[in-house]
Amino acid sequence: MSRTRRNTRTVRIGDIAIGGGAPIVVQSMTNTDTADARATAEQICDLARAGSELVRITVNTAEAAAQVAHIRDELARKDCAVPLVGDFHFNGHRLLSQYPECAEALAKYRINPGNVGKGSKRDEQFATMIEMACKYEKPVRIGVNWGSLDQELLARLMDENGASAQPEPADAVMREALVVSALESAAQAHQWGLPADRVVLSCKVSGVQDLISVYRELAARCDYPLHLGLTEAGMGSKGIVASTAALSVLLQEGIGDTIRISLTPEPGGDRTREVLVAQEILQTMGLRSFAPMVISCPGCGRTTSTYFQELAANIQAYLRSQMPLWRERFPGVEGMHVAVMGCVVNGPGESKHSNIGISLPGSGERPVAPVFVDGEKTVTLKGETIALDFQKIVDEYVRSHYGAGAAKTVHAIPNKAVL
Ligand code: SF4
Repeated sequence: MSRTRRNTRTVRIGDIAIGGGAPIVVQSMTNTDTADARATAEQICDLARAGSELVRITVNTAEAAAQVAHIRDELARKDCAVPLVGDFHFNGHRLLSQYPECAEALAKYRINPGNVGKGSKRDEQFATMIEMACKYEKPVRIGVNWGSLDQELLARLMDENGASAQPEPADAVMREALVVSALESAAQAHQWGLPADRVVLSCKVSGVQDLISVYRELAARCDYPLHLGLTEAGMGSKGIVASTAALSVLLQEGIGDTIRISLTPEPGGDRTREVLVAQEILQTMGLRSFAPMVISCPGCGRTTSTYFQELAANIQAYLRSQMPLWRERFPGVEGMHVAVMGCVVNGPGESKHSNIGISLPGSGERPVAPVFVDGEKTVTLKGETIALDFQKIVDEYVRSHYGAGAAKTVHAIPNKAVL
């Protein structure tokens, strides 16, 4: 694997480390009104249960700031310890100063240097927020976004570019402005007393190629841990594909210490999908493991019924549903691979490369389903109960191969290295 981790500083948020070679952290953000403490706490719990290791909440009004400590208390009652990140724009200096319980309850502040104030007020208001971070010993993410880029900085760089002998195209100046905004803001934060090991940077844009260029530049010019995300990625498959395309290039180059997938949910859709997508990007790249992986073929003219699709979907849902329990009882199970294949063409081969695999009967084949465990054919299932029988085999494999009482060792999966 060609990926080499950048040697970044480490920022600590409670038990969580960001950067310095620590596992890449998955985070997400609520879309509830923070002033509605109950709904927000509920969504935070959902996101944390899905695997979000940090959850960001909007803190945009006095009503929202007043509820943050109550949300923290409500989470404690629900036994949910996920650290909260407060997202501040425009009035963060006032809210952090006027609501000390809010400033204390948050584990980290996200500050957008393009939205901290204009003209002479900009530095004063930004300094107030940094002062609060120092006072409460909180780390800060300096989160630049091209939709709210510091316009005075952009104008300055445009003027300098215009006066140079070989001016760059405007889009290159814009990318440079994003990087400079993050780096200059971090330098200011240090001047005001925030240590370097309490700073994370991000420079989000919505174009895949722009994001890759910006982060390569940012990574080359600093050793802060970097938060990655394609902002405004969009909805459904477009958002997932665009985020994956951008992030996988950067992650493969060792750039990125924490990620968020900014999906627009379908109306009434589940907010936790962004957590699942983030986990799947990291897991399919072999960077982290979160839940057993199901390998299934796409199906073709050789699969004549939906039975194969249903079995693949059911086993995937079953494995995920068991993870809250299995994670505690059977450590290592998140690295398990289960193959569900549609027919004899690739079924036995792919099954042998997994911990457990089943090859269903394609059209024209005998109505039997050979099962492979650790590369060996162990049983052939048939009849109406194939799905249930296979699930029992998976359960037995988990019990016997993972956790303290494991009687057997797990066979290495070829070509699926996990860092
Ligand atoms: S394994 Fe069989 S059913 Fe699946 S795609 Fe290949 S040929 Fe089709």
